[in-house]
Amino acid sequence: MRLILVPLDTATDDLARKVAGSLRRIIPWKVVVSRRQETTHTSRPGTTSNAITLIESIADAPSDDTIEVAITPHDITIPGRDYVFGYALPERNMAIVSTFRLVPLQKSRHPVRLLTQRVCKEVLHEAGHVKGLEHCTSTSCVMHYSQTLHDTDLKPCKFCPTCVTELSRLPHVSVDLQEE
Ligand SMILES: [Zn+2]
Ligand SMILES: [Zn+2]
Repeated sequence: MRLILVPLDTATDDLARKVAGSLRRIIPWKVVVSRRQETTHTSRPGTTSNAITLIESIADAPSDDTIEVAITPHDITIPGRDYVFGYALPERNMAIVSTFRLVPLQKSRHPVRLLTQRVCKEVLHEAGHVKGLEHCTSTSCVMHYSQTLHDTDLKPCKFCPTCVTELSRLPHVSVDLQEE
């Protein structure tokens, strides 16, 4: 399994590298950062972009052994919602995560570390959706639904044993995800 992080803006280049570094220590997938992608759909600062349109504007969908997660600094939404932290399109093996609402607002001791952790969780969560995982009832699972940023901060950046089992049943996810 390969996980490709795709920065959509200069603002997320460095962050994508930090997130990839963290994810490599968490999951046994090959995590790489691709070159920044120009999207045909402009996502402008101060505006909210449709997450689905943005994903669809990113080049070609990868093959089934690869998950591509785009990272945008701009706010994203889907029809019927004010905003979303991320969104997955399993049929394209792709997802998108927005850092817009993940940036620490209050004075944080380690703002970069906190932002990296949050983005890691959202990326792994959307990657789980891409591979077919639903939301998990366990609060100790990255697939637990985050209604607020507080929920994101509470959950760990890892799949629970049930989701690990579920993932291992899916095709193309042959790697061992068991915790040490
Ligand atoms: Zn979700
Ligand atoms: Zn779970």
